[in-house]
Amino acid sequence: MEVDGRFPYYAQGSVVKGFGRGSKDMGIPTANFPDEVVDQLPAAFDQGVYYGWASLDGGPIYKMVMSVGTNPFWNNERKTMETHILQKFDSDFYGKSLAVCVSGFIRDNVSFESLDQLVKTIHTDIATATVVLDSEKQKTFHDSFRKWIDQ
Ligand code: ADP
Ligand code: MG
Repeated sequence: MEVDGRFPYYAQGSVVKGFGRGSKDMGIPTANFPDEVVDQLPAAFDQGVYYGWASLDGGPIYKMVMSVGTNPFWNNERKTMETHILQKFDSDFYGKSLAVCVSGFIRDNVSFESLDQLVKTIHTDIATATVVLDSEKQKTFHDSFRKWIDQ
């Protein structure tokens, strides 16, 4: 496989309110980063759907998928970084510190014909991330991320 120098990319910031367009109702809540964190992203991350690791307030590390871009389906203007953690939480965590390790690319962030198609594709993204993140290479990213969080 080709080496992609963008990874791993670490980011951290407090979880803010997003556009509230009901990703939660679709079963795919996405924790949004503040604009300052989005603005720090290198140009190479202009858009895309990525996978990696996430941790809240220095706690356990979970698998995640992250969407970067202007969300073509929704015609937003501002770029967002939205993290869906592959873990069920009993309550919201707005205001908590979210740390992410972006460790691989899944696909371009393109628009879809329908909401149904978008949701189906996100489920495929989640399935992809679940498998890939079990690889040895991703375990080393996980371990380095743990050190980065704890430092
Ligand atoms: P918003 O538009 O405010 O981002 P969402 O519908 O995308 O609203 O829901 C995101 C919020 O849901 C997060 O900020 C977080 O507090 C909560 N949440 C609960 N479970 C998860 C999860 N597994 N991954 C991401 N966010 C989650
Ligand atoms: Mg969101």
